[in-house]
Amino acid sequence: MMLKKAVIYLQVGLIALVASSCSPRRLTLEDTPDTRVLRTGPSRSMIYIAQTSAGPIIIDLGWTGAKEALRAALKELGTDSANVAGVFITHAHRDHIAGWPVVAKAPFYMAAPERDFLFGDFQYHAWIPRTAEELRPSELPASGTLQVREFTHDTSFVVGRDTVYAFMVTGHTPGSAAYLFRGVLFAGDALSHTTLAGFRMPKARFTENPREAAANLRNLFERVGTRDVKYVCTAHAECSAYNDEFMQDLFKDAGKNTPVR
Ligand SMILES: [Zn+2]
Repeated sequence: MMLKKAVIYLQVGLIALVASSCSPRRLTLEDTPDTRVLRTGPSRSMIYIAQTSAGPIIIDLGWTGAKEALRAALKELGTDSANVAGVFITHAHRDHIAGWPVVAKAPFYMAAPERDFLFGDFQYHAWIPRTAEELRPSELPASGTLQVREFTHDTSFVVGRDTVYAFMVTGHTPGSAAYLFRGVLFAGDALSHTTLAGFRMPKARFTENPREAAANLRNLFERVGTRDVKYVCTAHAECSAYNDEFMQDLFKDAGKNTPVR
């Protein structure tokens, strides 16, 4: 019995070791004097804040504890919610929007199909988001209460001396978007990461249309083109250098690399 257990532990250990040595190295996005990277809630949902010459921009709004963390981080950057130049939403799943009441006066940028989900007018169908919402409805803004600047195709927004490039990566949700800012591609949940599998397609149990999500993640990297991308990050603060190793691992076997269940 003991021997059997030991063999199982050894096998699990080997799998972990092999997986970590095959996958691209996972990186941590660190704070700088101008930026804060917040990790909120049980799934480390990322809120990224960067000071720009026009005021801070924020990418995603986190989960539990987001409101307090957001206020504190803005204060650390020497500013407050009244100065926020733009909030960029990758998608409106509950674990990425909880801080919205703190920045309700700022312009919200998002892909058009996501708007009705943010306001609770449409419900997600994927089983985990749907069941979570049935069990405990999220606190959502009332329709028409935020200034929403929506987009329907890949585009860019100038914020002070910076540019935020926005890409449609629909599939995980109907209006999932990725944003490229100062060399970091914030892919939202259009890209997922697990300890064993590394960077992969979005997880199917959270995803509205896994097939569409996989196709759009693939062509996202074509659309990014020659723009300067140094790092790619998920909405859960898992990042990788953007290089051949990352791309080969992500797409090494299209057949095997089906959505993670
Ligand atoms: Zn999500």
